[in-house]
Amino acid sequence: MSIQWAELPSALQSANLQAMQQIVPQLAEIEEIKEQNQLKLLSAFMQCRVASNHLLGSTGYGYDDAGRDKLAEVFACYTGSEAAIFRHSFASGTHALSTALFGILRPNQQMLCATGRPYDTLIGVIGLNGKGGGSLAEFGIGYQELALCAGGTPDLKGIAAHAKNSAMLYLQRSCGYDSRPALSLSDIAKAAQAAKTANPNIYVVVDNCYGEFVATEEPTHHGADLIVGSLIKNPGGGIAPSGGYIAGKAALVELCAQRMTAPGVGAEVGSSAGDVLRQLWLGLYFAPGVVAEAMKAGAYATALFSILGYEVKPSAGAPRGDIITAIHLKNASNLSTFCNQIQAHSPIDSHLSLQPWPMPGYNCDVIMAAGAFTLGSSIELSCDAPMRPPYTAFLQGGLNFAASRAAILQAAATLQP
Ligand SMILES: *Cc1c(COP(=O)(O)O)cnc(C)c1O
Repeated sequence: MSIQWAELPSALQSANLQAMQQIVPQLAEIEEIKEQNQLKLLSAFMQCRVASNHLLGSTGYGYDDAGRDKLAEVFACYTGSEAAIFRHSFASGTHALSTALFGILRPNQQMLCATGRPYDTLIGVIGLNGKGGGSLAEFGIGYQELALCAGGTPDLKGIAAHAKNSAMLYLQRSCGYDSRPALSLSDIAKAAQAAKTANPNIYVVVDNCYGEFVATEEPTHHGADLIVGSLIKNPGGGIAPSGGYIAGKAALVELCAQRMTAPGVGAEVGSSAGDVLRQLWLGLYFAPGVVAEAMKAGAYATALFSILGYEVKPSAGAPRGDIITAIHLKNASNLSTFCNQIQAHSPIDSHLSLQPWPMPGYNCDVIMAAGAFTLGSSIELSCDAPMRPPYTAFLQGGLNFAASRAAILQAAATLQP
């Protein structure tokens, strides 16, 4: 079985050519961002004097795990943070976010979320499903939510009005499964400023999942006190086998560390056994390039599906704040076909057919294409779609643009207009 452009219908071949021509300026811009980020990252490695012994792990309690601490130092340096935790032992991005929320917030305090409803898996953490199970709500931590303004920018007046009664302003940078643009770094800065003007003691925490390395700076350079993310997304570079990070103000990172292990113990423990540190180092080092490949796949998918008459977000040529491309596929059958084609053109498990399933943390069935080297990794070409109107495929990742482009084009070939 081979993948050849020549076998595609001629209309699709010309759409492919047109899309490739259309994205020439974006590809150049993505290369420019990649180069800047790679050099900044190399500088951070040099400045922190990363040495060969830092690639080795430890066992047991992991006291004096120099590589683990050095890795966190490099990530802090790159993101302009005072401190960081960057570890394989976070089970997921949600685990890292939950650790940060529970680490910082105290009973009777309030979390103010200014980016509308948070990502599905945070619903249970906050307690918005009305269930207990150890949620923030069960510990007496209040929650207030502000919808985004039309156009997807934060409600600065609302933030100013509610910041006084809140201990934390929470912003989700990426669109998640929502139909809205990713927050720009300048919108994050404006939201942070509005909150801090009203309440100088407020902490600004950003869910940075899918946003890392997309621009030449991070939210920590733009007023965020803390950023949190997953290592099976952007900063793991497709190589990290698991993990998450928390980076920002040292005092906040310390609070999170106490919650992560045990109060009084903090980040002093936690061994990185086996080869995992070397994988995290390599993944981080590759991340600017891998994110650039994913951004190219996103730019291509956006252009191709717009040309084919589908509604796509972000729209063709619009600035990107994450690696997600949302494609409205009009009906359940197209959505299922699209995801199955992405799976069928993946390097791993290409022979499997997909079924929607009730994934933990989501309120409807989800169909997922994930033919990945790392289970569930969404820096690799993957497609998640909640099976609900408007039947949107959330396409993300792609370690390699040529392979991603083939999968996206083949998927387009199978859709019913
Ligand atoms: C993926 C994601 C999360 C949660 O990360 P998991 O690793 O899936 O637990 C949180 N917020 C956003 C915006 C995400 O994209």
